[in-house]
Amino acid sequence: MMQIDSIIIGLLTASAVLAHNHEKHDDSHHLHHHHHLHHRRDLSDAPHGCGFQAPDVHSIEEMAVAQQERLSLAQYEQERRSNSNNRLFRCNPEDDIDDEDFGPENGGFVNITTYIHAIQKDNETGFLSDEILQENIDITNELLLSTGFQLNVVATNRVVDKTWYDSEWNTVEQNNREKKHRKGGFKTLNVYYKAARMFGGRYCGYANLAENAKVMGKGDGIVVDTDCATDKTTLAHEVGHWLNLLHTFDGGCSPGDLVDDTNAQSWYYGRTFGACPNPLPDSCPDRPGVDPLDNIMDYAPLGCDDVFTEGQARRMREAWRNIRSRS
Ligand SMILES: [Zn+2]
Repeated sequence: MMQIDSIIIGLLTASAVLAHNHEKHDDSHHLHHHHHLHHRRDLSDAPHGCGFQAPDVHSIEEMAVAQQERLSLAQYEQERRSNSNNRLFRCNPEDDIDDEDFGPENGGFVNITTYIHAIQKDNETGFLSDEILQENIDITNELLLSTGFQLNVVATNRVVDKTWYDSEWNTVEQNNREKKHRKGGFKTLNVYYKAARMFGGRYCGYANLAENAKVMGKGDGIVVDTDCATDKTTLAHEVGHWLNLLHTFDGGCSPGDLVDDTNAQSWYYGRTFGACPNPLPDSCPDRPGVDPLDNIMDYAPLGCDDVFTEGQARRMREAWRNIRSRS
């Protein structure tokens, strides 16, 4: 037991909190890009042509390390699934879900009680109007329709706090404030809009997986960068993690993301401006199908459609039923 706990915590430091890197965005269009967690780039950096630049050697090394960590995470879960009767890890299409939570009496949906914490650095920096926050929730709920989940915002907590705004993930500064402000148990979603800083970089957002909720304690939740609050998919992507989805490229070609109906993918292409590549790339040529660049849990050009698959929806519902709804 001790050993398992230390493995979980070890993975947690680098893998369980899954981030969107946040590149410099074009203020006039409010577009943004995503890169990998470890591909550090500050908002203050110069823009890069079509939206991303070839990583330098340092970044390549970081990304290689990160990919190895994600592979370990997926392999670890696969082992647990094969050794365990835990229903969370049964995500195959034949496994019919007894959907009492998702039944008609609830309109077929689980409404996740959601608290918004809108943190500002000062009176201007980081301020998000009620309209922008509402729009972010509306767009996210539209993307979540196919999954059986909706976010039900019950309160918006506005805080002006320079230190909290700029605090990094898992620092005393951030943890103390989340302890003070976080609402509800692990079935309650707390979304913090602030600067999403982690490992010295700034990202569009990050979230912990459902299976790590108890380890995270008061740190369970989602952080969305205030500069990505007008983005279409950041919050939906983080809700995916919060309901235990991995990236489509996590785990490489095998075991992959542990979802049956997302094609195997070993690398991501970066959140860039413009159209989806045509033809679609195929980073796992020995496995069926091309890379699922249309998936919300990928980092892909903005021109690619953004969907959750039925298999991902099933994994999210399993995480809800077996972890979050029981807390
Ligand atoms: Zn992510």
